[in-house]
Amino acid sequence: MQEIPPLMNDFSEYALSPPDVDATREVVDALLETLLEAGDATAALPIIEAWDKKMTEFREWSMVTYIRFMQDTKNPAHKEAKELLDSVSPKFTDLETRMKQAVLELPYRDQLAERVSPQCLDLWTCHVASFAPAIEEDLAAEARLDSQYTEVLAAGEVVIQRESLNLSEVDKYTESNERAIRKEAFRARSEWFAQQGEILDQIYADQVTLRHRMARTLHYPSYTELAYQQRTRIGFGPEDVAAFRDEVANEVVPLVSELASLQRKELEVDELMYWDEATFTRQGNPKPLGDHDWMVDRATEMFAEMGHGMDDFFHQMKSKGLMDLNSRPGKAGGGFCEYLHGLGMPFIFANFNGTRHDVGVFTHEMGHAFQAYSSRDQPLADLVWPTTEACEIHSIGLEFLTWPHMHLFYGEEAAARLKRAHLHEYLTFLPYGVSVDHFQHLVYAQPDATPEERHGFWKVTEERYMPETNYGNLPAESAGRRWQMKPHLYGLPFYYIDYTLALVGALQFWSHAREDTDAAMREYVALCRRGGSLPFAELLKSAGLSSPFEPGCLKGLMAEAKAYLLH
Ligand SMILES: [Zn+2]
Repeated sequence: MQEIPPLMNDFSEYALSPPDVDATREVVDALLETLLEAGDATAALPIIEAWDKKMTEFREWSMVTYIRFMQDTKNPAHKEAKELLDSVSPKFTDLETRMKQAVLELPYRDQLAERVSPQCLDLWTCHVASFAPAIEEDLAAEARLDSQYTEVLAAGEVVIQRESLNLSEVDKYTESNERAIRKEAFRARSEWFAQQGEILDQIYADQVTLRHRMARTLHYPSYTELAYQQRTRIGFGPEDVAAFRDEVANEVVPLVSELASLQRKELEVDELMYWDEATFTRQGNPKPLGDHDWMVDRATEMFAEMGHGMDDFFHQMKSKGLMDLNSRPGKAGGGFCEYLHGLGMPFIFANFNGTRHDVGVFTHEMGHAFQAYSSRDQPLADLVWPTTEACEIHSIGLEFLTWPHMHLFYGEEAAARLKRAHLHEYLTFLPYGVSVDHFQHLVYAQPDATPEERHGFWKVTEERYMPETNYGNLPAESAGRRWQMKPHLYGLPFYYIDYTLALVGALQFWSHAREDTDAAMREYVALCRRGGSLPFAELLKSAGLSSPFEPGCLKGLMAEAKAYLLH
């Protein structure tokens, strides 16, 4: 495998060869032997660093391969490379785990933890506890099923207003000012999902079976326990998450109900239907005033105004082609950010469709990107990203911290409406987010359930957290299939709660910035630099934020949000 080139003019030219598993194994085996002879933390550290650097070659190729596949899922060469990635990933996980296991067993591991960071060894404990070569094949099969889900959705086409659209493009009509058009868009999407119901049921059923089997192979009672290890949940467990869901049910669900009746009056409709929920004012939702290139220019101005290093960072992202933001046929849906350890730069992916979501996804992914970039000097690759519930603080946090600059994208009047819609939507997101989480706990507690029973689980959680949602006769949603539209349930099980936990942190940035924008930015940048060096609770504390697991954590925030939206 080639060395990672230190310089790159443009991401499109960045080409890496596929990894050589056997050659990498030889290097890792040699390093493992040296490690066992090292004797103390000082001697062991350079060996661990050399292994980390070696593994970065694979990480870099895997990230580039994944990004290229997502950019063009129909390209045979990219698809082939992605298949290779899915099949070799577990072999590299094995090489990673062997080194981590060996480090954890060293008699001087505590000294090492002090030198590297105790968080790193806690992370590795999770990694070791969630992998064994015996599940390699199941992991590869799980990744293939996720690729299958991605391909099914990427191939999705619906017709709205006589226009043929992919699923990412549907959103330009789901928030139309005209109620009949948004209803048509929701219906078209729902019918498509209902038609694909059987294949989506099958992929998920196969994933649940595989995941349960992996958990049993590793001696966990169910996949839930394994998933908490895989997601490196350090310092909290399913009981804490369940208590947080209760807080949401008690503190947020009633407020969301109040906001819904306000919205109903604002929209002048008899009943707030599912297809009205994302439309916040009679004039309709604000839209950015220009296209992709125009928005990149506005973003350049915005980051220049924000300072704190964001301007220079954005310039680098732009000049090196590290953003793919437009929507096009065959491109996978959604938005994400990946970090290229070899380059020391992130890459962001989105699907612009001319709606306010373009700005939302862009600022969200830029939050992830800025954090990863700010943490690039962390001593080991595993410390660049925080655990995911902390990661989403940086992304959602930046969505709120960019509020003072939203007029650049929308103009003054629309920016004010946009901010209200943004906050309102995030409040309604909390019950939905915990519902997705509660659903998954039910699914993996009963891995033998039929697809029909799973749709029933979803209806139970919906009833608890979103009792007022009215789907009319949309075929997929009425049948308890709304969850199938969310890729995380297929590809990133149990991830979803992270958005809600992080939102509690991000809303505190919103609150702090209302008092003192500059101080909130300083707090934010310092948090970004800490990367993944601390667990969730300590990262929160280090930035002066309260934890979502503290009883009553939502009370003050909900009161402030309510005052902002209702008065
Ligand atoms: Zn995110």
